[in-house]
Amino acid sequence: MAKQEDVFKKIISHAKEYGFIFPSSEIYDGLSAIYDYGQNGAELKNNIKQYWWKAMVQLNDNIVGIDTAIFMHPTIWKASGHVDAFNDPLIDNKDSKKRFRADVLIEDYCAKLEDKADKEIEKAAKRFGDAFDKKEFESTNPRVLEYREKQKTILSRMAQSLEKEDLGDVKALIEELEIADPETGSKNWTDVRQFNLMFGTKLGASADSATDLYLRPETAQGIFVNFLNVQKTSRQKLPFGIAQIGKAFRNEIVARQFIFRMREFEQMEMQYFVPPGTELGFYETWKEKRLNWHLALGLGAENYKFHDHEKLAHYANAAADIEFKFPFGFKELEGIHSRTDFDLSAHEKHSGRKLQYFDSERNENYVPYVVETSVGLDRLFLAIFSNCLKDEVLEDGSERTVLSLPPALAPYKAAILPLMKKDGLAEYAQTIFDDLKFDFNLFYEEKDAIGKRYRRQDAIGTPFCITIDHDSLTENTVTLRDRDTMKQERVAVADLRRIIDEKTNFRNLLSKI
Ligand code: ATP
Repeated sequence: MAKQEDVFKKIISHAKEYGFIFPSSEIYDGLSAIYDYGQNGAELKNNIKQYWWKAMVQLNDNIVGIDTAIFMHPTIWKASGHVDAFNDPLIDNKDSKKRFRADVLIEDYCAKLEDKADKEIEKAAKRFGDAFDKKEFESTNPRVLEYREKQKTILSRMAQSLEKEDLGDVKALIEELEIADPETGSKNWTDVRQFNLMFGTKLGASADSATDLYLRPETAQGIFVNFLNVQKTSRQKLPFGIAQIGKAFRNEIVARQFIFRMREFEQMEMQYFVPPGTELGFYETWKEKRLNWHLALGLGAENYKFHDHEKLAHYANAAADIEFKFPFGFKELEGIHSRTDFDLSAHEKHSGRKLQYFDSERNENYVPYVVETSVGLDRLFLAIFSNCLKDEVLEDGSERTVLSLPPALAPYKAAILPLMKKDGLAEYAQTIFDDLKFDFNLFYEEKDAIGKRYRRQDAIGTPFCITIDHDSLTENTVTLRDRDTMKQERVAVADLRRIIDEKTNFRNLLSKI
């Protein structure tokens, strides 16, 4: 546990030290669970957005992208169910005075049972070697079966109690399982209460005439209420999708895991509108497509798994999460939801406007069904950043910290480094910079020993370092150093554009999806 915490601390301090993420309002001691992206963080975040946008909008001729306002008519949140049901069950520990999400306490308990099952499987795999049949073992070993059965019973009881709003039973479950405050061990709990996660604000000048508004807790509703506008103006036929990237706000009860759970964050959501009755097929397709999109990043297939939901949200008839192995364990990264016609029908009812589609093949009007993919940009940032940050011991015994980002996502694609400022090296380096800057985001630096400069670029994930020396002036060649292999080769200045492009182009990721 201590080790996991150390790894996580190192990630947070690296993010700050190298200009990726700063605590917001830091000179005023910060604001809880709000963060700012620094110069390198903003670049990485923008590149992640581009990867998603290109994969969704550019690669699919039936998906278009929009950008809707954060403020929306307040009735939208009534229709969507957020006013009545966007609650988390919270519980306080009377001794530590710390606040927790009751469902998360129970889910964490179940995750520990799953860890125990995994350990049994690992032990057996070691014992039996090549002869080990994992499926057979999982389906027959009494301990694994017991751990999994227990989890199932607990989670389905919790789901039922939450569904029935029986918060007394959620507390009873916490007590029966003897769940303690993870930090203090205290089991002295208050009752469980519901807490609405939406932030309220006001529109208008005077207090009397002002309208109560909410900061949107998800970007999806901006897509739903524009469904007909987009369908008509884009002339799309079903099935088609609308994608959007934007800020969302949630007054999270517990927000202690850096950018994993923030109060202001960004979502990348896509709503895929389909004929009723076909939604579960598209749901399966999108589960697979979205997993492939993640896998193309090369962070390791073993770090992802699906978690099919037992407890379905009020709008869904199927839902799954893609979970990622964060430094603190497997947690939700993306949600894929079959949202039925819930949202469009609710907006029809509340707005009094028809939100229907005329299907010329079926020769009928209907409210489309929706399959949604929803990924948190900041969570994705954390997944990529934490997975790519590595301490390496080199052959000569020295150490380096390297951020082995997928090259297309790296803040800078190359660093231009004149060996020294004098003898015209800086001027020559500047001409290379000026030539390549139209194609790539480049870093330029003259100061410090070259080894030190290389290490700084490794730490921010720059795929190439280009060193200009005296031979460059006469031969028009430079030394090109590769971030990952640290190999250096002499290349012609005229080849730089092609070499950098081959390594860092988004094509490398997009062609793998
Ligand atoms: P969780 O169960 O972790 O609270 P959720 O199921 O409420 O998440 P969704 O409403 O499905 O999340 O939102 C879609 C995605 O938005 C999530 O998969 C996650 O990546 C991201 N997300 C949700 N809440 C936050 C948050 N507070 N901070 C950062 N990202 C978030």
